[in-house]
Amino acid sequence: MLHGLMMQTPLLISSLITHAERFHPDAQIVSRRVEGDIHRTTYRETHARARRLANALQALHVSRGDRVATLAWNGYRHFELYFAVSGSGAVLHTLNPRLHPEQLAWIVNHAEDKVVCFDLSFLPIVEAIAPLCPTVKTWVAMADKGRMPANTKAQLACYEDLLEQHSERFAWPEFDENLASSLCYTSGTTGNPKGVLYSHRSTVLHTLAAALPDALNLSARDVILPVVPMFHVNAWGLPYVAPMVGAKLVFPGGQLDGKSLYGLFETENVTVSAGVPTVWQGLLAHTESNNLKFSTMNRTVIGGSACPPAMLRQFQDKYGVQVLHAWGMTEMSPLGTVGTLKSKHLTMGHEQQLAVQYKQGRSVFGVDMKIVGDDGRDLPWDGTAFGDLLVRGPWIVREYFKGEGGNPLRVDDAGLQWFPTGDVATIDADGYMQITDRSKDVIKSGGEWISSIEIENIAVSHPAVAMAACIAIRHPKWDERPLLVVMKKPGVELGKDEMLRHYEGKIAKWQIPDDVAFVESIPLGATGKMLKAKLREQFKNYTLPNP
Ligand code: AMP
Repeated sequence: MLHGLMMQTPLLISSLITHAERFHPDAQIVSRRVEGDIHRTTYRETHARARRLANALQALHVSRGDRVATLAWNGYRHFELYFAVSGSGAVLHTLNPRLHPEQLAWIVNHAEDKVVCFDLSFLPIVEAIAPLCPTVKTWVAMADKGRMPANTKAQLACYEDLLEQHSERFAWPEFDENLASSLCYTSGTTGNPKGVLYSHRSTVLHTLAAALPDALNLSARDVILPVVPMFHVNAWGLPYVAPMVGAKLVFPGGQLDGKSLYGLFETENVTVSAGVPTVWQGLLAHTESNNLKFSTMNRTVIGGSACPPAMLRQFQDKYGVQVLHAWGMTEMSPLGTVGTLKSKHLTMGHEQQLAVQYKQGRSVFGVDMKIVGDDGRDLPWDGTAFGDLLVRGPWIVREYFKGEGGNPLRVDDAGLQWFPTGDVATIDADGYMQITDRSKDVIKSGGEWISSIEIENIAVSHPAVAMAACIAIRHPKWDERPLLVVMKKPGVELGKDEMLRHYEGKIAKWQIPDDVAFVESIPLGATGKMLKAKLREQFKNYTLPNP
């Protein structure tokens, strides 16, 4: 055996902010605060405040491996916590404030959080859950002294007070890169939420890969506005990538409506953003109705659920904003694939290029993938065969926190371990993966599968449709048939017949939904995805016409 003779510097999250301070001290971090104003800081100042915070955490008796939770929007204090907590060897646990307080209390108790830092807007949640969370020793309001709530039942510490009381002299400790750095619970549509415990190594490797040109393509010349919340898989890694490349960061706080976002895009010269399709729908509705264009934004990452082709086309063809269609999951840190073109696509026609981009994309180096049939055997990469999508790599979960749910991995004939994503997909000869469905959402009609995503994509390409979900309804002959649930845009006319006519010529006749149900709203989950389980419950006694 002969070992290489290179330094074994551990891959640690603290190195990202140290690097940013040394090489990009003046790059800006701009936040729309919950207080309502715009706040500006730099990597230099952020690093200093993160070190103060690390001292403060020590004073609060936070030790290595202890969990420090956040209940916060995207903003500079949340960003400081990303580095102060993980950098000092504790574990940053980002809580999703959109969850029900009971669910939140369950998660806090499961994680055994010791400290919870929260934005003032979430005080009512803190008051509701504090009596249910005995492991939490300190609740920290992320505010300055002047804004501390006066009449509250909860015992609170003041974030700015803590920073003021502690010195910025702090040396980030060096430790094993495999130690835990942050914790994020999966959306958990079934069963209890499960914790995915990232390590410093997995995070830094993911950060390096995410910045690559064929991934999110980020650099020191970018101004990044992550709309995706920092409590949703670490804002897809952007708070780590930005200091690594030295990009300016813009945090939108809790104002995620189209008007507020557009305002920030323009005033801060944002070049790139990232979020789920439902957010972009709000933004595009605003730009459309006010006849606006983007002055500096040239690309946006869309993922979390399938980007409807109509949205991709609108962004690119009408606004000149390149769409990076990305796929991943909490268990994957989250990045798995991104839909960027290869050189051979550049000479193709516009429509053919779009067809490539509609897919979820090809693997970012570090993520290996394959599709398998029911028998566990590999399926061909021909763009047609579809099966369970399996992944493996250094930033993919091996086991859930506290062993919840047992061993999630599958072992193949070669003895390799794979994580089953729960998604059903095709992969083509060029390696582009396309999700046809979540395995539990797929509609099985007469032994054939209908992709609910494809049905939804066609529905939202109709100008009168705001949002659409396709779910399976039991059928005596075909087992299941598709029902299309549609939320119309305000003030427009659309009937069932016209909706169904819109499918003609676009898909096979037997795949066209049997019926259309118009609803006032479609339930969305805590990360902005349509809650199909809820819809299935809502329509469980529904009978299709002429079954
Ligand atoms: P989460 O862990 O909450 O981020 O959810 C991960 C799941 O979201 C994946 O397993 C997919 O089912 C879905 N998902 C994420 N990105 C996409 C995408 N671009 N297209 C379709 N589904 C997606």
